[in-house]
Amino acid sequence: MNTYDAVIIGTGQAGPFLAQRLTGAGMNVAIIERKSFGGTCVNTGCIPTKTMVASAYAAHIARRAADFGVLAGGVSVDMKRVKARKDTVSGNSRSGVETWLKKMERCTVYQGHARFESPREVSVGSERLTAERIFINVGGRAAIPQMAGLDQVEYLTNSSMMNVDFLPRHLIVVGGSYIGLEFGQMFRRFGSEVTIIEMGGRLIQREDEDVSAAIKEILEREGINVRLNATCIGFAKRGEDIVARVDCTRDAPEVGGSHLLLAVGRRPNTDDLGLERAGVAVDQRGYVVVDDQLRTSVPGIWALGDCNGKGAFTHTSFNDAEIVAANLIDNDPRRVSDRITTYALYIDPPLGRAGMTEAEVRKTGRPALLGKRLMTRVGRAVEKGETLGFMKIVVDAQTREILGAAILGTGGDEVIHSILDVMYAKAPYTVIQRAMHIHPTVSELIPTMIGEMQPL
Ligand SMILES: Cc1cc2nc3c(=O)[nH]c(=O)nc-3n(C[C@H](O)[C@H](O)[C@H](O)COP(=O)(O)OP(=O)(O)OC[C@H]3O[C@@H](n4cnc5c(N)ncnc54)[C@H](O)[C@@H]3O)c2cc1C
Repeated sequence: MNTYDAVIIGTGQAGPFLAQRLTGAGMNVAIIERKSFGGTCVNTGCIPTKTMVASAYAAHIARRAADFGVLAGGVSVDMKRVKARKDTVSGNSRSGVETWLKKMERCTVYQGHARFESPREVSVGSERLTAERIFINVGGRAAIPQMAGLDQVEYLTNSSMMNVDFLPRHLIVVGGSYIGLEFGQMFRRFGSEVTIIEMGGRLIQREDEDVSAAIKEILEREGINVRLNATCIGFAKRGEDIVARVDCTRDAPEVGGSHLLLAVGRRPNTDDLGLERAGVAVDQRGYVVVDDQLRTSVPGIWALGDCNGKGAFTHTSFNDAEIVAANLIDNDPRRVSDRITTYALYIDPPLGRAGMTEAEVRKTGRPALLGKRLMTRVGRAVEKGETLGFMKIVVDAQTREILGAAILGTGGDEVIHSILDVMYAKAPYTVIQRAMHIHPTVSELIPTMIGEMQPL
């Protein structure tokens, strides 16, 4: 029996940072990883996909070179080199996490599948570890939907996409949300024909309708075929091809392609963790039930990251670790409900989001002001030749606090932080109008947009 002050299951975006904080506070910590150090973000999520998005952007700009007066020859993409570049960036990050943990003082690394044996006991292979504090950071994996004929065809997920070192002739992507759109645009830019099939009436349905419509237009301009309202999705093999039945209200009822990517959501890795032996409660979808400070139903056990259903991003998982460490070590009662929703969609141009959508604000019925500006009216975007998209902001007309913003345009993933930080400061929007911004930037037009706000 190995006894520790704390056991951490999983080395995703919360576990390693938490290990550093706990060992730094003098605790002996065991951390367990069953597969790849760094988890989803490092190996099959953010880092490899954004590396590939960068390759796709390079191909796109190379094709547009003449628009900028640059005469380059024909553009072709070497998928083996795209993958090799991705493998290097992702591999460096993975080994960075592994080395960090293995060199961490007072930290013992176990490699293998962890299972609860009791509320204070976890097994890894033949080892038994006990601790008064156990932290679950097991993340999630691609959900495989129940769709007719799926057992008849081969399909890819975000994980197996990482091994693709060839150009699919025609990639069918099922799922019109973040993961599906990023892969869809990237492979279109690499040279594949791409069809995105979405069951709903619009792409990225959690966003405002104008955002969804603009994203659809951006993708269609590049020749991506978007099929919405696909109410009857099914698959069959026809010769070398995979045929997806779409049954849309209009257009052809079938789409034939060479490869199929499923991007219809994620599910938590909680089904093989022995949670029942510890008495840890999960909800109907398998997410660990936690309170505002990420404590589970069992005292002494916490759940962080994607597996608690409180967030589905690297930054929410990392923030979970900050919250737990603040409460346990710093006597600082931080809470999940203190954080403001924020994320980005990494198509090009990217979407940066903070706070409420316009639709959510409308639902509250509160008096609000809305500012909106097309990227065609942002000098920096014009100069860069990247004028697709728009930005908008919604503020409370009475308190003057910013309620939410969406920046779909060049630099949107970075620019959104200038609004996010003001939201955290709970400062009135007028502060932004008094700040002197750098010219020429996208951010310099935020005060102008604010100055043109109208009642919602
Ligand atoms: C294609 C894709 C792109 C993404 N892009 C972005 C992005 O751009 N920005 C962003 O913020 N987020 C992005 N995400 C989401 C992000 O990757 C996740 O939100 C983040 O990785 C969650 O981290 P985590 O800490 O919850 O767990 P994970 O990173 O999933 O790590 C969990 C770890 O636990 C291990 N594990 C699981 N069960 C056990 C067990 N029983 N025993 C031992 N070890 C176990 C796993 O092997 C894994 O290493 C993306 C996701 C995908 C799929």
